[in-house]
Parts: sequence; structure tokens; C-alpha cells
Amino acid sequence: MDSFQYRNGILFCEDVSLADIAQQVGTPFYCYSSTHLKARFRAYEKGFGNRKHLICFAVKANSNLAVLSCLASLGAGADIVSGGELYRAVKAGISPEKIVYSGVGKTEEEMAFALEQGIAMFNVESLEELKTLSKVAKGLGKKAPVAFRVNPDVDPKTHPYISTGLKKNKFGLSPEQALDAYKEAATDPNLTVVGIDCHIGSQIVEMDPFLDAFERVKNMVKKLEDMGINLSFVDIGGGLGISYKGENPPSPEEYISAVVDKAQDMPQTIVVEPGRSICGNAGVLVTKILYTKDNGEKEFYIVDAGMNDLGRPSLYDAYHEIRAVKEPSSPGTKQVDVVGPICETGDFLARDRVLPELTSGALLAVMSAGAYGFTMSSNYNSRPRVAEVMVYGDKFHVVRNRESWDDLISLEHIPQEVSC
Ligand SMILES: *Cc1c(COP(=O)(O)O)cnc(C)c1O
Repeated sequence: MDSFQYRNGILFCEDVSLADIAQQVGTPFYCYSSTHLKARFRAYEKGFGNRKHLICFAVKANSNLAVLSCLASLGAGADIVSGGELYRAVKAGISPEKIVYSGVGKTEEEMAFALEQGIAMFNVESLEELKTLSKVAKGLGKKAPVAFRVNPDVDPKTHPYISTGLKKNKFGLSPEQALDAYKEAATDPNLTVVGIDCHIGSQIVEMDPFLDAFERVKNMVKKLEDMGINLSFVDIGGGLGISYKGENPPSPEEYISAVVDKAQDMPQTIVVEPGRSICGNAGVLVTKILYTKDNGEKEFYIVDAGMNDLGRPSLYDAYHEIRAVKEPSSPGTKQVDVVGPICETGDFLARDRVLPELTSGALLAVMSAGAYGFTMSSNYNSRPRVAEVMVYGDKFHVVRNRESWDDLISLEHIPQEVSC
């Protein structure tokens, strides 16, 4: 499905013109389609059919409260990686018993908050973390539900920065280490062993790595059963890719049905932690051309959004399709770099891209920007973070205000007692 389509030459999100939003909200802004979010979530549900499951949206992909609340209303859980994400998830109405907590560096304070909320499970990534969790649980008179993140050592054939399931990555435990960890956890009165978890990477567009990993996890589950450890949750992580540039990943439904097929003989609830595949193509970043420039060798569209607003191109050399919000009347094109105002050579949204011939003032939509866009944005160069807008059919709402210059300095102090 594509929730962003031209109507009479103007790019719309659902039934709202992006040009109209720009006029009312200013630029740059992120715009999300609630209908797209819902459709992607439902595609996961469809794959599960009537199998016991839990779909935990990976909050780090897009943590806006309106996005979370939209998914919560469909019954989504959350995969969180910090106390802040837990705080957001709960505020947005996601029930704690549908929340799983991932990440290699949980602090005691974060663990305590999660225990008090009563989350479904902690995906533990090291023995030291396990000890700390046990201590925190004991202090609160609670039992912590734990799963171990195992590292199935499959190569997800993806970008090295975002592949996490190889031995050399910092994530998870090897299967051997995990078995020892399970033994230890099973005898700890402050812990309840409830699950197993893996997450092999991101933007994976083939089925095989997922199914390989699942087989390995399934073997572990059997080994654990033989040891007398029975699990309630098998968490297969996130990582399903989307189409940025013609990739053709399996649909959530295809992917999940294949897993469900392999899990026929398993009584556990299957947990999945999708991020990008729910929200990636639900969002765009709309930016305005401030200046066009030709330095003799290259041509540039200098736009009002930069790497601080959308970091993926400079961080991962990621490709985002760019469309003119108003289809130009003349068919002329040129090859340009689309660059931001930041004082870094790496500040680009696209390089050597063939785009319509446009003039300053024209609006561009950077496509597929709904995941790891706003959440990775920063105030670098003292740039206020941009507004976020959500479209609901023929209506839109600002779901995060554009930051002001006052916001930029609101937490800072100039000490009066000292002189520099
Ligand atoms: C990032 C992450 C996800 C979500 O990954 P996507 O590629 O966005 O689906 C899920 N689980 C864990 C543990 C993660 O770190």
C-alpha cells in the first residue's frame, strides 16, 4: 500500500495535501499516516491468525506518543530499550504486561521502574545484567520475568552497522553461554524464567536468515525443556525490511505465517518486535528548497532539513527516495546533491540524484522516513527539532510541536557564583 500519492499533481498523505500542511505548520516536518501504521500492524496480526502472539512495536523506530497510542488502540505491545521509552509506552496507553525490555545496558533505576510497572519480560543480554536484575528485584520484593537474548550467529546479509546476530556483535549471549545463564536464573528466587529472545538485525529483506535463526532458537527451546526449563514466550525480534529503493521484502503476513508454520509443535506465545516494517513507509520528511546552487562541478538543492533531522543518509549512506511535493509542469530533470544547512560535508539527504528541475521555495518529500527519522534527530547546530504531524483520513494533527529557540536553552544555566 502507498499512503502517499499524487492528486492533481500534489503529493497527498491519505486525503491531506502535504503542501497544505506545510503552509500551516511550516517546514521541515515529519508527516505520518495513521492508516498506513494500522495496515502494517494488521498485516502482522493476519500472519499470526489465531496463534497466541504478542506484537511489540519497537519504540526506538518511532516513539511519538500519537504513533504509540494509535498502535496501542489496536492491541500492540512495545519493545523498549530504555526507561524513557517505557515511560512513553505507558503514557500512550500500552499495557505493561505487553512490554518487553531489550538492550545491553539497562540501569538499576530503569530495571526498578520496569519491575514496578509489571512488564512482561526483560530480555537479558549478559550474566552481570542478570545479577543486577536479581538484586533490584529482591530489593523491591518482586520476581523479575527474564528471557535471554541468544545470538544465533546467522548472517542477515544486511548492512554491517545494523546486523546484530553475529558472534562478533555486542548483543546477546552465545547458545552455550545462554544455557549456563538459564541454569543460573532457574535457581534464583528473585527471577522467573519466562522466555527466549533473538534479534538478528535490521532491514532484512529475505526470509532465510529469519527462518535459520528461528530453527536455532527452537533447538534451544528443546534443550531447555530437556533441562526442565519450560518457557512461555519465544521472541523472534524485529528486523523485517521495507522497500526504500525497490527492495522486495516478504510482507509481514508472509514472514509471520512462515514462522507460525515452523512453530506448530510449540506451545509458547510467539513475540515479534517490529519497528521499521510498521512505521518506515508510514512517514515522510517534508523540507523546502532554500537555495539552488551550481558550483561548476555539481549542482545542489540546499534544503531546510539536515542530517540532524534525518541522520540515516549520512550515518548509513541510506537511500531515501525524494519526490517533489508539487509535480513540476516541465519535464526537465537534473542531477543534484540534496544537502542541509549543517556545517558538515556529511550533511546530505541524497547524492547524485536525478530530480525534477526545481527552484527555491519548492517542497520536497523525503520518503520512507517514518522509522529512525525523528527518533534519531538531534539539536546539532542548535537547530530546533522539527514538528511531527499525523494524518487521520482527511484530517491532520500536529503531534509534536516544532521546538523553539527557547526550548534549545531551557535546561541550561550560566553559573552566577563563578567568573570565567
Ligand atoms: C531495533 C530493534 C528492533 C526493531 O528493529 P526493526 O529493524 O526496526 O524492526 C527490535 N528488537 C530489538 C532488540 C532491537 O534492537
